[in-house]
Amino acid sequence: MIIQLKEDISDRQKESLIAEVKQIGYKITEVKTQLGDYLVGIGKKDFDIRKIGQKEGIQDIHIVSDEYKLVSKKWKVKPTSIDLGDGVCIKDGDMAIIAGPCSIESEEQIRKVIGHLKENGVRMMRGGVFKPRSSPYAFRGLGLEGLKLWYQLAKEEGIKIVTEVMQVSQIEEMYPYTDIYQVGARNTQNFNLLDELGKVDKAVMIKRGISGTIEELLQSAEYVFSGGNEKLILCERGIRTYERASRNTLDLNAVPILKSKSHLPVIVDPSHGIGIREFVPQMALAGVMAGADGIIYETHEIPEKAYSDGQQTLDFAQSSLLVDWIRKSFALRKSFELL
Ligand code: PEP
Ligand code: MN
Repeated sequence: MIIQLKEDISDRQKESLIAEVKQIGYKITEVKTQLGDYLVGIGKKDFDIRKIGQKEGIQDIHIVSDEYKLVSKKWKVKPTSIDLGDGVCIKDGDMAIIAGPCSIESEEQIRKVIGHLKENGVRMMRGGVFKPRSSPYAFRGLGLEGLKLWYQLAKEEGIKIVTEVMQVSQIEEMYPYTDIYQVGARNTQNFNLLDELGKVDKAVMIKRGISGTIEELLQSAEYVFSGGNEKLILCERGIRTYERASRNTLDLNAVPILKSKSHLPVIVDPSHGIGIREFVPQMALAGVMAGADGIIYETHEIPEKAYSDGQQTLDFAQSSLLVDWIRKSFALRKSFELL
């Protein structure tokens, strides 16, 4: 059960409400976000919802039987929009494009990618400065200094920054230089990290875990929301299956399923999803047609020289074509008016 509280609810009204719900046999968690105050009740007892709904201080009350609650569409039908400022938004009914290298490597590389994005009207840039790598000997990122440099250059050009946070201690130091904190597939169930991101007033994009189910992804988002942060984006980036012909298996089924279960925007990462450069565009377009609200992919001036994930990275010519195809596919999807 989710009880949305009125902004002006008094302490006395809240206490009386909590006492009553507890008496019915529900465990109550209080949730305060930037946008609202809620009581989340966990329990199974049958009761007359009208009896509680009439109490003072309540905006609305909803029964949500799913394991995840605040991210469920069952109480919030209106899709959540993520407004990054300066006219950059990730939302239902729109097509966000986020492109950039796997890793931030140098000032020259950042300038080149920004120039490429500007030419194509792309306003969000991805890139890792803290890189989770399977091998400890692989390039692990330029760290905070790299992020500061990137931020300076991106800000001048009105480009927003999407970058991975790997641990709790990085959240604060990254804050001034980050527009969207990315939670990587290896950290989707790092619940300490998710809890702490709940305290931040900036957007968080959660990637699906390497072997994570759709429900687990939603539960991870629930951690951040219930910690106080509603600015969430879900990302399908492929899962590990028995198939070895591609790096991962991009589960496009997840897109309409997530969209039907949650009010949060859903974006697709075809680069990590298939892991093979020449097939990234097809899978990006398939993501658009599956109903995604955005696509995130890797691009680099010379992919063969990229410090990481070059095999799945598009060069600028391929990337420019893809941006055009994504926009055209999205226009076509909208013309169907089905999704
Ligand atoms: C990345 O975006 O470069 C990355 C490491 O992604 P994932 O966490 O999906 O593997
Ligand atoms: Mn990568």
